[in-house]
Amino acid sequence: MKTIDINKLIRKNILNLKPYSSARDEYCGADAVFLDANENPNNAPYNRYPDPLQWKIKEKISGEKGVAPEKIFLGNGSDEAIDLLIRAFCQPGRDNILSIDPTYGMYKVCADINEVEFNKVLLKDNFQLDTAGLLGKITGNTRLLFLCSPNNPTSNSFYAGDILTLLDAFNGLLILDEAYIDFSAGKSFLEKLGDYRNLVILQTFSKAWGMAGIRLGMCFADERIISVLNKIKYPYNINVLALNAVLDALNEKGTKNIWVKELLAERERIMKELTRHPVVLKVYPSDANFILVKVNDAAGIYRHLVKQKIIVRDRSTVSLCEECLRITVGTKEENDLLLNEFRKMK
Ligand SMILES: *Cc1c(COP(=O)(O)O)cnc(C)c1O
Repeated sequence: MKTIDINKLIRKNILNLKPYSSARDEYCGADAVFLDANENPNNAPYNRYPDPLQWKIKEKISGEKGVAPEKIFLGNGSDEAIDLLIRAFCQPGRDNILSIDPTYGMYKVCADINEVEFNKVLLKDNFQLDTAGLLGKITGNTRLLFLCSPNNPTSNSFYAGDILTLLDAFNGLLILDEAYIDFSAGKSFLEKLGDYRNLVILQTFSKAWGMAGIRLGMCFADERIISVLNKIKYPYNINVLALNAVLDALNEKGTKNIWVKELLAERERIMKELTRHPVVLKVYPSDANFILVKVNDAAGIYRHLVKQKIIVRDRSTVSLCEECLRITVGTKEENDLLLNEFRKMK
């Protein structure tokens, strides 16, 4: 088993921080007369502050994922977890973060906001990890390594063996963003949590669960890492509306599984059909709910589609994605509208 000294990785001010103590930390039973938090006694259920640690939802997620509730952090989107990890583990002006290029833009934005140096290593031509390049960039002050698999925007999963190599060699935290894992043929790394104390996994309700609007992200890691995040988050970071919505979804997870199946079938259909169009030079293999497509004129096709009120993402300025569009898999009807436009192009 890979162990690390988490206390040595945490910023000193965070290690020594005495967190805000809320009234509901002391008593959270449901059957009491609550005169402790200056709430309005009217307008249930919105009058009460939510459970700061969201135990009810975590119990459900725990059953679903096979991870103990103490190893789960819930954030206002994965983005909150990304920001808190940087704030907890990276001393501005001293520590640095390592990641890959291209990948999800929020890692660098959060690093920049926190004034933490951000370094990246280009993926190989096949969109796989350059493990030697990454290992060569690690310094004594590298605290976090952000990977995203399946990766946005390249849509592929990284080789598990490469991720394990990095977990073995790196003594900071390896954060593996699995936002698209439900669409992947490969397995989640959740089952490796017990073997690697330096592994942090991000998942989200924004994609497969169809709940981007409620803002709920999950972070799975060793309980000592999770307790640091809980210590520095806003006390009531997940609101009652979001908690109720996600509870309903977790009680009825068959719906999510049906959506995933449908989206995967649609993904295969549009990939197959796009491959045949003369303006399409390449459709990359996808493990996500979007596809990356190399075309002969990304900017022109993007503008044409916008005129038809079909919005895709022009990724042609992103490394290794020259002339590429990123297209999210929609409903059958939406995908048909997209394919129809492609049929008209030459
Ligand atoms: C969409 C996406 C997320 C989701 O972020 P939320 O804040 O949970 O909505 C996370 N990571 C990646 C790589 C994504 O593409």
